[in-house]
Amino acid sequence: MRIAVLALQGAFAEHEQMLHRLGAETFEVRQLSDWQQHKDGLIIPGGESTTQGKLLRDLGLFESIRQAIIDGLPVFGTCAGLILLSPMHLDAMDIDVQRNAYGRQLGSFHAVAPVKGIGNDVPMTFIRAPYINKILSPDCDGLAEVDGHIVAARQGRRLVTAFHPELDDDTRIHRFFLSLG
Ligand code: GLN
Repeated sequence: MRIAVLALQGAFAEHEQMLHRLGAETFEVRQLSDWQQHKDGLIIPGGESTTQGKLLRDLGLFESIRQAIIDGLPVFGTCAGLILLSPMHLDAMDIDVQRNAYGRQLGSFHAVAPVKGIGNDVPMTFIRAPYINKILSPDCDGLAEVDGHIVAARQGRRLVTAFHPELDDDTRIHRFFLSLG
């Protein structure tokens, strides 16, 4: 397994460490020539979605990545990556997203909740996180809720979490992603 990790900005190194623990290879995508390599999946990390979205467009990566996802490449977006996969940017997940949804007071927090298809007691670190307001198509499935808001979803080979599983010591979500191909 060889996973492309978008490395324009944000928490990409932690994803690479997690994938290495699971025996997958990774390479970083910083420009269009990196993207041309063989890959079995893509991770879009947390960070700042506006910045990453602008860089994707400026670097000419936006359309190539969007096309690869449409053609079936497995993709996992965390936090800002969830926003980038929503109709606000790459339009690859049928979800309506609320950015910075938890307000200033609750900018960062930790929770533990079950995730459908993965198991119970999944640790969830939220950092200025979005949540999913609404699932917009029957093809898309909400996988987890915290405080009544959807915080993880799957649509075919596309997976998103509002939280950062790469920052906790639980490999189940990454393992699940690697099984989507
Ligand atoms: N608040 C960021 C955004 O809107 C996301 C935060 C994160 O990825 N941890 O893009």
